[in-house]
Amino acid sequence: MIVSPLVLALVIGAPSFSVDPDVGATAAIERESARHWAALERLWVRTTGRAVKGPPNVRVHARRDFSAGFNGRSTPGVVQLRPTRGAPTERQRIALRHELAHQLLLAACPAAARDRLFHEAFAIWTSGEQENWLSEHITVREARRRLRRGIDDRPSTRAAIARVLAEADAERALTERMRDCEEGPPLTIEALAQAAQFSDAMVVISRHSGEVLAHDGASALKMPFGSTLKPFVVSAHGPGPELDVPADVPMWACHARGPKMGAEEALLRSCNGYFLDWPALPADFGRYQPLFDRFEVRPRVVAEAVGLASRLGLSAFELAQAYRVLAEADPAILATLDDNAKHGTLADTGFSAEGATKTGTVRDADSRPRVGWIVFVDDDVVAVMARRGRAPRTFAAELDAVVRGLDRASLVAVERAGDFAPGCGANGIAVSVSRDRVVVDAHVPDARWLCLGAPTVNGAGVVDGRRLRTRRGQAPRATLE
Ligand SMILES: [Zn+2]
Repeated sequence: MIVSPLVLALVIGAPSFSVDPDVGATAAIERESARHWAALERLWVRTTGRAVKGPPNVRVHARRDFSAGFNGRSTPGVVQLRPTRGAPTERQRIALRHELAHQLLLAACPAAARDRLFHEAFAIWTSGEQENWLSEHITVREARRRLRRGIDDRPSTRAAIARVLAEADAERALTERMRDCEEGPPLTIEALAQAAQFSDAMVVISRHSGEVLAHDGASALKMPFGSTLKPFVVSAHGPGPELDVPADVPMWACHARGPKMGAEEALLRSCNGYFLDWPALPADFGRYQPLFDRFEVRPRVVAEAVGLASRLGLSAFELAQAYRVLAEADPAILATLDDNAKHGTLADTGFSAEGATKTGTVRDADSRPRVGWIVFVDDDVVAVMARRGRAPRTFAAELDAVVRGLDRASLVAVERAGDFAPGCGANGIAVSVSRDRVVVDAHVPDARWLCLGAPTVNGAGVVDGRRLRTRRGQAPRATLE
């Protein structure tokens, strides 16, 4: 057999693994260790062009006294793991892969042994655990704030690193650090969390419980929101005037049906000219403004509110939350948007799911799309999809497939009677919604009341008087029932 020098180097470099019997599933863990080490080594060699030397042996032994949220620890050549009975659990395998990443870095780049951010980011990046931490929808800014407090192995730190890996330009910073790990300076939070400007994102939330049913990509990345907030402008300041459609005005080139246009048609055509010419239209979101304040969306001019100017940003998750409130506050405006897939901006795109839609497109100076948005709302869900560099019409079928793929039976609302105390879970935004008022951070008696980004103290749901509306199969928290 002819063995190339590189392969030989890899074979010589790989350690043997000895797993203590009290870890459980010894043979399986040895196999998993060897397999993952080989994968890490390949990544290292391909990124840096350098082989990994040693250690000759890595010993895995059991440790039972980890505090909650901790499943493993590493010192050079030794991995401590929470033990298991029977086959390795997914949690144990992730912890093993995480610790092996530390082991590989210690062997491949001893000079970076004290670069904690590099170590933890590399371990989370390569262990397959990243997805597990993304269910907490923190922004990159919040992630940065957490990391500045200190880098460790705690769940809140891991969620911050996972968020940065998902939404910022982190992989580039990581691979650069790998390449110059012997001489380079330690990885900084700024380098790791350098924000990507535009990215793909998708999130689906239940209108009833508020819980995230599906998400993908950079769902917490703030991006310019295009025309997606025009329905809030009409809901807040409508009904809106009937305006003459001027000829040869580019802002009005939106295929008007006739010589006059009202707010309803302006929404379906997403017609910027209409909003710019609406006399004395306030540059805010009226009764929804306190909610948008929480998302740091405070327009200075009408063009910013309707998305013609793109100074402000909103994440897919925040946009979905805002539409959850709109759907409770103004069903009529959603009914208007039911026509959008037939006669509006999504006509003839193959989008056929029954429900309200609104599109948004952010363009560069040459009118190329930088990011496209589609919001979908029906009786049970809010879905938001953003695609970098694409116009909404080009990915409408993709969102249609996501919406059609949802398990409808579990999504429908059920109502339960009980006593409901006002209050939101940690990090939630409490919103009271009635026909003419939206009150943020307070509970208004007799208004419908929901929590954005967290369950109510009673469980996930919308509270309406003494009833809790949630989705089927979801019980309110037992202690308060
Ligand atoms: Zn770690």
